[in-house]
Amino acid sequence: MVERSMVKILVLDDEPFMLKLLARMLTNQGFTSVTFCKSGRAALERLDAVDTRPNLILLDLNMPEMDGIEFVRHLVERNYADSLILISGEDERMLQTVEKLVQAHKIMVLGHIQKPVKPEVLSALLEKWVPSSTDSPKAMKVYSADEVRAAINNGELVNYYQPKVAVATGKVAGVETLVRWRHPVYGIVPPDQFIGIAEAYSLIDDLTRVVLTSALAQAKAWQDAGLELRVAVNVSMDSLASLDFLDFVTGLTSKIGIPPQKIVLEVTESQLMGDTRIPLEILTRLRLNRFHLSIDDFGTGHSSMAQLRDIPFDELKIDHSFVHRAWTDDTLRAIYDASLALARQLDMEVVAEGVEDRDDWNLLLSTGCDLAQGAFISRSMLAKDLPGWMEIWQERVRNGFANDINI
Ligand code: C2E
Ligand code: MG
Ligand code: MG
Repeated sequence: MVERSMVKILVLDDEPFMLKLLARMLTNQGFTSVTFCKSGRAALERLDAVDTRPNLILLDLNMPEMDGIEFVRHLVERNYADSLILISGEDERMLQTVEKLVQAHKIMVLGHIQKPVKPEVLSALLEKWVPSSTDSPKAMKVYSADEVRAAINNGELVNYYQPKVAVATGKVAGVETLVRWRHPVYGIVPPDQFIGIAEAYSLIDDLTRVVLTSALAQAKAWQDAGLELRVAVNVSMDSLASLDFLDFVTGLTSKIGIPPQKIVLEVTESQLMGDTRIPLEILTRLRLNRFHLSIDDFGTGHSSMAQLRDIPFDELKIDHSFVHRAWTDDTLRAIYDASLALARQLDMEVVAEGVEDRDDWNLLLSTGCDLAQGAFISRSMLAKDLPGWMEIWQERVRNGFANDINI
């Protein structure tokens, strides 16, 4: 239950009638700190004054003079990092688009409301309000190339593994290797905070080799323990720009004693990519050597149809942004279905990423998706935790997830 006295609401709508209606709804729901503005200009004045600064804005998108989108731009300029609820008479699709746009600016969008506003819809969104986290230093930190280089060289990178399971049978088909940085001060740092730096400063090759070497050693350990797992490693296109990558990978697999069929290379296009001819050659030769190739984050800007045309991939991973909630969202569903159909037609295995709940899982089941990955199955974990997790998972599958509580 939201502590109502903590929420400072600003309602911005050009229609006096709407302002009155919302005032009544908010009062009825116990919110006492509420200010009303009829124009963007007036609202910005409130924002600029420290004592009237809101931490939740109810924003009408359609206003004369300054519309809602322009108002959001001003919010961004003012580093507004609290919450927002969008209100509009526009259709659902339009509202979702604007919601994405705002989220991209790191403003917390609690959701959107269609006019006419229903009290229960408003109340459900207000319940989602949380005080804005004063961002931890960990989340804000920007690491230097030297720090990332030292992390690679000092063995501070650790591999985590996230299971990929067969949807039809629940069988654990493999794992994806996801690197983390065990930072001596900041703890576990996620890859999004250092992969980009590694790519920009030509450190990605070294990073890939470190990750790959320990992932293959782990794959061998699982193989020796009788676990039939395919081990996937993320390889950014940059690493494929040097011809000795092929020798490195083939040399390593034969030295460690892992058949290349057991290794999946998940390829993502880096933003910095220049010449694509060398990666193309290397990928094709890797495929000839029986490594499995996977096109990662399919459907996002970094993974394109051209790649699909040029490279003989075995697996297509539908990006999580098109999977979670696709069962209820027509746009996501259309993209999900199209990706699935495309993969089928090209005779590729399909992995859906971002399977977060039972509803997502059921969609995969009913549409015949091959493999699933995501929080519903398991988050990534250390290798030592995998056998224990497998037992729990198999039990969940046996029970048809009947005993799951609130996942
Ligand atoms: P990715 O390859 O698409 O990996 C999937 C990401 O989704 C992982 O984030 C994973 O933790 C996260 N994820 C797992 N389950 C769910 C879920 O249910 N919902 C949602 N929304 N997300 C989920 P992570 O580990 O932070 O990795 C982020 C990205 O960093 C990876 O995306 C991959 O592109 C990159 N990355 C990770 N390890 C490496 C690596 O060794 N080398 C390179 N080049 N890139 C890596
Ligand atoms: Mg991946
Ligand atoms: Mg992905």
